Amino acid sequence: MGTKKITVCHKRNDCIGCGSCSLVAPDRWQMNEEDGKADLKDGEWKGDEFVVAKINEEEYTKNKEAADACPVGIIRVD
Ligand code: SF4
Repeated sequence: MGTKKITVCHKRNDCIGCGSCSLVAPDRWQMNEEDGKADLKDGEWKGDEFVVAKINEEEYTKNKEAADACPVGIIRVD
């Protein structure tokens, strides 16, 4: 109660590996050394296009910044 549910959604296959999200929000985003794309920490695949994670309100601003920083617009925070 009182805690808003916030979802971060990453269209991972379209990630170009620029690294911006991991610079802005390193607590939640990490670059994958094998394929060079970003990984949403503690995220789960939904279908084969999106990785999603629930975050708390304290993380909202940073992840919103990550979404704004993403040059291909594949991070959504709702
Ligand atoms: S900012 Fe976007 S394109 Fe860049 S690494 Fe993160 S998800 Fe991928």
